[in-house]
Amino acid sequence: MLKDNLLKDIEGVEVELNKDLSKFSTMRLKAYGDLITVGSVESLSSVLKKLKELKIEFIVLGMGANQLLKRESSLPYLMIKFPFDKNSLNEKKEIYTLPASVRLSVLTSHASKFALKGWEVFTGVPATLGGAIFMNAGTGLGEIGELVTKVWLMNSNGESRFVEINKDSFSYRKNNFVEAGEVIYQVEMKHFGEDSEVTEVIRKYLGRRNATQPMKEKTCGCVFKNSNFDGLPCPAGKFVDIIGLKGLQVGGIRISDIHGNFMENCDDATYDDVVALINIVQREMKLQFGVDFELEVKAK
Ligand SMILES: Cc1cc2nc3c(=O)[nH]c(=O)nc-3n(C[C@H](O)[C@H](O)[C@H](O)COP(=O)(O)OP(=O)(O)OC[C@H]3O[C@@H](n4cnc5c(N)ncnc54)[C@H](O)[C@@H]3O)c2cc1C
Repeated sequence: MLKDNLLKDIEGVEVELNKDLSKFSTMRLKAYGDLITVGSVESLSSVLKKLKELKIEFIVLGMGANQLLKRESSLPYLMIKFPFDKNSLNEKKEIYTLPASVRLSVLTSHASKFALKGWEVFTGVPATLGGAIFMNAGTGLGEIGELVTKVWLMNSNGESRFVEINKDSFSYRKNNFVEAGEVIYQVEMKHFGEDSEVTEVIRKYLGRRNATQPMKEKTCGCVFKNSNFDGLPCPAGKFVDIIGLKGLQVGGIRISDIHGNFMENCDDATYDDVVALINIVQREMKLQFGVDFELEVKAK
């Protein structure tokens, strides 16, 4: 646990010790831990330096839409919350420079309003921009990595660097450039012009997601990455369905009846419940199909 007053001299930083974090993940797991909220690039740099000096590891937290939170975390969570003037999205631009803490839902509204081609790829994905880039979030329409041109990161020495994005920067649900301990704090994004159909594509895709995924339940999206076997795609949700695991419950967590790759917090679930259910599913999938399904969610 962090000591009280540890970061007190750094302006723009809020430290909350042993905080109830159950509202800090979309799965709403029961969780307590220390939370450091950082409000500017300068304070991020100072905090990272200080944590390194004290040899304190941390977990970066976005919206917690793909991060399982432990009941009592021994590591503090670091969240960035940089000021963002929503009025800057009152008009269309060619290139956008955005703080990593901005929510994708804000960007989707903007894309819908100005029919920005390309931005439909993250329709309905709950995320901060930083978390989405870390995960290379995407849908059946594409991945966010296709739209990113430059990413600014802060390392554990409090030093800033930027990465110009190229074709090797991202793979399926991962980035290939964030080093251990680095925090994404700013992002440059492009679009592919205007396309009057984008607004309708976004509307329809949201409707489709609502019909095929448990969007109203407390989940963390897809638990497993889709896999491949002998060059053939193995969608994790379908395989869970085929072996009849939908509805299986451990403690307060159950496999969704709507989508086999989603787990729903139905009764005060904890991190341990989720990990136990994950282990059962992975074991059964290996036994029945010989396929290893890697985790998409982050469970550190
Ligand atoms: C209902 C639902 C539907 C979903 N559908 C999709 C979908 O269609 N496609 C999809 O790809 N995902 C989907 N997800 C998963 C989730 O939305 C994505 O993985 C998203 O990118 C997570 O963003 P986040 O800001 O919540 O990051 P978090 O979950 O908080 O963090 C995820 C990882 O990113 C790291 N991270 C976060 N921010 C930063 C940063 N600024 N710098 C460095 N590292 C950082 C964290 O340490 C962690 O390892 C869904 C989730 C839910 C709940």
